[in-house]
Amino acid sequence: MLQAYKYRMYPNRAQVASLMQHIHACRFVYNYSLEQKIRAYEQDGRKLSCYDLNNRLPALKEEHPWLKEVNSQSLQSANKNLDNAFTRFFREKKGFPKFKSKKNPVQSFQVPQHYHVDFERNRIKLPKLGEIKTVFHRTFTGKMKYATVSVTSTGKWFVSILVDDGKPEPEPAPFSLDTTLGIDVGLTDFATLSTGEKVENPRFLKKSLQRLKVLQRRVSRKKKGSKNQQKAIQRLARCHEKIANQRNDFLHKLSFRVVSENQAIAVESLNVAGMQKNHCLAQAIGDVSWSTFFTILEYKCRRYGKTLLKIGRFDPSSKICHGCGYINQDLKLSDREWTCPDCGTHHDRDINAAINIKKFALQEQNLVGVSGVERAAEPVDLPR
Ligand SMILES: [Zn+2]
Repeated sequence: MLQAYKYRMYPNRAQVASLMQHIHACRFVYNYSLEQKIRAYEQDGRKLSCYDLNNRLPALKEEHPWLKEVNSQSLQSANKNLDNAFTRFFREKKGFPKFKSKKNPVQSFQVPQHYHVDFERNRIKLPKLGEIKTVFHRTFTGKMKYATVSVTSTGKWFVSILVDDGKPEPEPAPFSLDTTLGIDVGLTDFATLSTGEKVENPRFLKKSLQRLKVLQRRVSRKKKGSKNQQKAIQRLARCHEKIANQRNDFLHKLSFRVVSENQAIAVESLNVAGMQKNHCLAQAIGDVSWSTFFTILEYKCRRYGKTLLKIGRFDPSSKICHGCGYINQDLKLSDREWTCPDCGTHHDRDINAAINIKKFALQEQNLVGVSGVERAAEPVDLPR
């Protein structure tokens, strides 16, 4: 089974410069290859493979000699990642691969092999970079796969090592109506469970959101490119980072709990296309939280032998009475409660939806994906 272990790194000044160079180079190669792929396809309908792209690296290095100072395996990894992004695009319709921006809050590159960890001396040795001080707060045993080095917008460095412990994944446990949990996510409450329980959005999030708005306004009021603007940007980045940490902590605890208590979990697929058009801050943060939540649920299910069931968005989960199947066409978004005119059951909108999600998921014709079949990528870096 694969598991990622993430550690904080403390590079010295020279190492930071070299690490940054790796990040720039990998982003440069990724974007260059993406452009090549698009051009080859537009010009003569050709699909460039990862092999084709790697074959172009030597010429690219002659053109841009600074790339030679970077671990060439890391550059090849950038091409591999691009290839994976295209695979996901074709197979899972996950959106066309985008050019990587240096403004992304987390920047990273990969080291596929030839790196060494020294737990006792708290050092990691990376090709072309040498030994970097790293705090190994926990050890692992197993075969080390690739390592991902990342830096946050506040300048914190991390290395995430993917380890294969050689053990097979547990077989998914059988599940039934009684051992399956339906989850409906929303803005009013973070999640509503088919058991009737409502999981509130953590209070700190609301507070931090207000602070975020203030800091954002301050950045926009400062003179462009000034020192004061730089400072304001740093403050904003720290606030973003804090929110991301708090949120991830909340999501890990919640997902661990629901995965431990149930054999299968049913969720509704998120509307990814709709998410990208969202400019409202609360909604945008919600979108990120839900997709992160589902990612965590997916790998926790895999690790503990549970099943994640996903249903499509085409099922009107809030409008159908879970008791008799009556469809309430008049239900508005503002209606938090309603009474079924057919059987007289009084519904809480979200609890009814969660129960329906569970019911639909258990009817096989509505299944659009089962985590046991469609294995997602390993949990390396969670999106903010
Ligand atoms: Zn009814």
